[in-house]
Amino acid sequence: MKVTILKGSHEIGGTSIQLSSGKTSILLDAGLPLSADSQPVDLSRLDVDALLVSHPHQDHFGLMASLPAGTPVYIGALARSLIDATQVFLGNERYALDFHDFKAWQPFTIGDFTITPYLVDHSATDAYAFLIEAEGKRLFYSGDLRSHGRKGVLFENLVKRPIRDIDVLFLEGTMMHRNNDLFPDEMAVEDSIFQTIQQQEDISFLLSSSQNIDRIVSAYRACKRAGKFLVIDIYTAWVLEQLRQITQNTPAMDWDEIRVFAKYSQDERLKANPDYFGDFRKRLYRHRVKREELHATPESFLYFGKMSSFHLIDEFKDAAAPVNVMYSQWLGYLDGTHADYFGSDQIAAYSPWPSFRGRSA
Ligand SMILES: [Zn+2]
Repeated sequence: MKVTILKGSHEIGGTSIQLSSGKTSILLDAGLPLSADSQPVDLSRLDVDALLVSHPHQDHFGLMASLPAGTPVYIGALARSLIDATQVFLGNERYALDFHDFKAWQPFTIGDFTITPYLVDHSATDAYAFLIEAEGKRLFYSGDLRSHGRKGVLFENLVKRPIRDIDVLFLEGTMMHRNNDLFPDEMAVEDSIFQTIQQQEDISFLLSSSQNIDRIVSAYRACKRAGKFLVIDIYTAWVLEQLRQITQNTPAMDWDEIRVFAKYSQDERLKANPDYFGDFRKRLYRHRVKREELHATPESFLYFGKMSSFHLIDEFKDAAAPVNVMYSQWLGYLDGTHADYFGSDQIAAYSPWPSFRGRSA
């Protein structure tokens, strides 16, 4: 088995590793780099029999459309739905690639390779590590994984019953340096959200990724404990709708403590794609909260938004009572080099709560 690291060492994200054995060649992830000074690798002339996508984060799938046309792409079914959702809400065409699903822990073959996907705990849902076997060699590729999320048991199981006789291990290590004292696990994050919102006199905002399902669950549980409503946007409501493919236990727009704030631009996407959304728009409007309602009793709400929510934050922030803004994403987005991430400069300009300076959940 020949291993070629095309991209992704000594940097966060942008991962791409080529494996060759006999007549078969496969690619592990096709990621866009996260940092501005790192150039994407050119995959357009790469002759591979398939791409394996570990999870639906841009720094692992973002270059998949640049592979030669017709290259098969293996990815979890839910992960693919979530990528579709993002494309539609961005106003882009959905990827028309030769997609193939795989199932957790069920081995499949691509030419000379046998691949076993291991479901892992990560901030993206439907995330996998891969055990890859060929020519009597065994390679384990972790994708992105962690142990402190709501599916941490998946990591514990890997430790308790380790995969034996590995010849090569590729292990993700983005957060190796981080001190996790403040937020050792997702329950601590939930507690912190609860502490922040329970006595609030104005609205609170939690800025995170709509595809970080653990974080949405934490926000929901904190709201339930504090007697508040969790407000989500249309995109987040649609992401939660996709989760119905695998579970009925994650919050959804029709749950009692959840309301949907219908942003005009997102509603336009629903109207522009009626076949894709089906009756979703009709159902969504039963759970809507209007801007006037947010302003009438702002202390009743936690708004789960993105950095682009700064307009809405600014609407509330001059009131007598403080507006809480909880930033719950990679701190690197606030370093002033991500102008393409709409709202990052505005959010970075807010004054940090002293005890949280330099920390992130
Ligand atoms: Zn990731």
